[in-house]
Amino acid sequence: MMPECSTVVIFLGPPGAGKGTQAARLSEALGIPAISTGEILRQAAQSGTELGKAVQSVMASGQLVSDDLMNEVVADRLSRRDCRHGCILDGYPRTVSQARFLEALLDRLNLPEPVIFNLNLAPEKIVARLSRRRQCPQCGGIYSIKPYSAPPRCERDGSVLVQRPDDAPATIRQRLEVYRATSEALADFYRTRNYYEISAARTPKHISKELLRLIATRRPAAVAAVRPPLQVSATA
Ligand code: AMP
Repeated sequence: MMPECSTVVIFLGPPGAGKGTQAARLSEALGIPAISTGEILRQAAQSGTELGKAVQSVMASGQLVSDDLMNEVVADRLSRRDCRHGCILDGYPRTVSQARFLEALLDRLNLPEPVIFNLNLAPEKIVARLSRRRQCPQCGGIYSIKPYSAPPRCERDGSVLVQRPDDAPATIRQRLEVYRATSEALADFYRTRNYYEISAARTPKHISKELLRLIATRRPAAVAAVRPPLQVSATA
């Protein structure tokens, strides 16, 4: 039997729209894991695993990793015990083929149909945000730095923040191209379901409040015991 309060959330939207930041906030509020496929791949690349070696050059070029590989990664991750009450997906699915695979996977794992939030942001704002984005190499926290500030550090563990290699301007352009080429079909796939277009041009706090309200409207039991959202200072 599906637990009363299971929730699956999918974030769609261009790089830099704040999917990671919102996924972290919802994860904290709902008590279910936030799963970023990009983060799983970056960690694999850093630790030099077989998966990491297979995806490193594709990621560096801003292209998409193959559907088969990504589906395998996600099936493995969602089958773990911490996902038994659901999860928040950031960066997956990216193609209609992945979306179809996920549909069957959720069914097989006895998880509910997802709520889909498509974060919208104007292209000029995306590039500006990505060039300011920095990440903590220890805890993965995402920050938006001010230009010309001192070397920024993580507020949680003091690590010096770093820029993702694929946030370099040339790769950003490539990633946006890939996004443009795939996003419309994916949005069309989900449009008739629990799908919401969300303006990402607001503060993270404002956006997560709206997302929690929408989740509560759809599935009140899931947020009955919502903890107050963590005061994440990060903005993406
Ligand atoms: P992200 O952190 O979501 O921007 O992902 C970083 C990179 O990882 C992407 O540019 C892709 O190369 C790869 N990637 C992450 N998720 C997926 C996915 N669902 N399908 C294909 N490639 C992905």
